[in-house]
Amino acid sequence: MAKTDRFGYKISMSMLLQKCTEAGLKITDQRKVILKVLEESEDHPSVETLCERARQVDSSISIATVYRTLGLLNELGLVLKHDFKDSSARFEVDHGHHYHLVDTETGQVVEFQSEELVALINKIAADLGYQMVDHTFEMFGHKLKK
Ligand SMILES: [Zn+2]
Repeated sequence: MAKTDRFGYKISMSMLLQKCTEAGLKITDQRKVILKVLEESEDHPSVETLCERARQVDSSISIATVYRTLGLLNELGLVLKHDFKDSSARFEVDHGHHYHLVDTETGQVVEFQSEELVALINKIAADLGYQMVDHTFEMFGHKLKK
């Protein structure tokens, strides 16, 4: 069953599993649980948080298995790894291009898109004589006090 995320990007477990199979990655039950739990997470969990959630489904899953699985999925480009300047790396299933704003008080990660930002970055690259092929952009801030 394909679902569309809030940015209109279609992701589904079957699509993810198919890509894993195409890449020659063996889909064990544990890997399937880890991928499913990550796909259902909207908060960009750390390895530790993801492991806790996965262990609620299958208590035999170890932190080493989660590390290894995320590494393999990251190599395939199915899972993205982020460094939000807190202690541990954070992960998400690739669900289309978007940006992150990290709340410095709560640690909450807010996702957003901005065509104006993309246009501006493209212009900066062009002004420097470059064709942009990739970019990253992250924001950190806290809510305005009223
Ligand atoms: Zn995200």
